[in-house]
Amino acid sequence: MRLIILDRDGVINQDSDDFIKSPAEWVPIPGSLEAIARLNQAGYRVVVATNQSGIARGLFDVKTLNAIHQKLHAAAHQAGADVDAIFYCPHAADDNCDCRKPKPGMLQTIASRFNVSLKGVPNVGDSLRDLQAGYGVGCVPYLVLTGKGERTRAKGGLPPGTLVFSDLASVVDSLLKDSKPLPVDEITPQKDGRRRQA
Ligand SMILES: [Mg+2]
Ligand SMILES: [Zn+2]
Repeated sequence: MRLIILDRDGVINQDSDDFIKSPAEWVPIPGSLEAIARLNQAGYRVVVATNQSGIARGLFDVKTLNAIHQKLHAAAHQAGADVDAIFYCPHAADDNCDCRKPKPGMLQTIASRFNVSLKGVPNVGDSLRDLQAGYGVGCVPYLVLTGKGERTRAKGGLPPGTLVFSDLASVVDSLLKDSKPLPVDEITPQKDGRRRQA
């Protein structure tokens, strides 16, 4: 079995600094669901691991999170894609749980649930903590530049061997052998101070 672990916000759907608090706020990144469909067709099982501290903060409840995930699953099915499971951490940073990324707890749960080693399993995220959570348990870190990805790349300190791609669709192109990663440090600043992908 081939497994791939994806972060949710900023990888599959558009991220928001104000949290995704309702199904209406959950909007897929163009091409992401089709990319998951291509993974499925190539034999990958696709699992999501997502920090959702908005629950601990009281911004939304588990019922709403389930409704958001129903929308995700339905949208995936519309695109011919299937997300096997969504694991989430509902805690805040100061809860000191074992599941909030960068801790590896969620990924270890995935490993035991699917009865697989995580060694070499692609782990796709837009934040450093996503990649750190997977790196310690043997995953291959993939940074996407959607969501917080540009900021994450600019800050540096990525786990050794991190592969950088513009988005999930490009990650999948690469996994299915159609594209090469972008160089980690090749950043082209724009006049307005924003950065665009190399
Ligand atoms: Mg994210
Ligand atoms: Zn947790």
